[in-house]
Amino acid sequence: MTPTRLFEGKRVLVFGVANERSIAWGIAQAMHEHGASFIFTYAGEALEKRVRPLAEVVGADLIRCDVTNDEEVEACFEQVRAKWDGIDVLVHAIGFANREDLDGRFIDTSRAGFLLAHDVSVFSLVLLARHAAPLLAARRGNIITMSYYGSEKVVQNYNVMGVAKAALEASVRYLAADLGPDGIRVNAVSAGPIKTLAASGIRGFKTILSTVEEKTPLRRNVTQADVGNAALFLCSDLGGGVTGEIMYVDAGYNIMGL
Ligand code: NAD
Repeated sequence: MTPTRLFEGKRVLVFGVANERSIAWGIAQAMHEHGASFIFTYAGEALEKRVRPLAEVVGADLIRCDVTNDEEVEACFEQVRAKWDGIDVLVHAIGFANREDLDGRFIDTSRAGFLLAHDVSVFSLVLLARHAAPLLAARRGNIITMSYYGSEKVVQNYNVMGVAKAALEASVRYLAADLGPDGIRVNAVSAGPIKTLAASGIRGFKTILSTVEEKTPLRRNVTQADVGNAALFLCSDLGGGVTGEIMYVDAGYNIMGL
């Protein structure tokens, strides 16, 4: 029996592949196996040589796009429109905070550090959604972004990113309400900790991984593939009735109390 290909003929625009460990790469691989076509964006010159070979694996076009630069975002969408008259999925897997703000006390976060974390990790979702909305509406597409448990509970050293993730989750709900009438869905996966480039900036990340492995109901950490498969569900027709949702993919860690 041939397995059902959920993304045959679907077009996916991906923000957030930095290397083979990126969660965005896990999502792209899952969708690639189901027949999707891709455009990948990358944040700047330094990342291009890492991202290009991965783009080649899935036959993706590559566009440079630093989400803090309005002109680059505008130019990026011009290139997307030149290739596609509609998109089925926008993957937003972007986050950044200064290393010094992922250590010590949240109270010491600088104004610049607070704004930077929110600009890159939250406002970018709003900006990209605005640019993508007409393209998504053309194919009743959807948006997926990535959150973390530190939005809800205090996680040592996660600090300003926890506050940014809370704003990101609220943004998912407001965007879902704005875009729902056009048939566009907006959801987030709240992933358990995974060793990636972004995660390496969080002091004590190894301890987070070992604590989760010990305490989580499934007694393991999640993988990029776990997140990719969940994204596959949310972004395919199988998730057609789901919008504004924050779905935990964390091996159950979030349900545990004492
Ligand atoms: P990653 O380092 O592979 O991905 C982060 C991405 O953000 C990179 O591709 C980077 O280029 C991009 N980025 C940063 N600044 C940018 C800018 N100005 N313009 C455009 N892109 C920019 O790490 P990851 O862990 O895969 O992170 C992806 C998302 O998943 C982030 O939002 C992160 O907070 C979230 N997340 C990660 C974990 C984890 O444990 N790794 C858990 C839950 C949620």
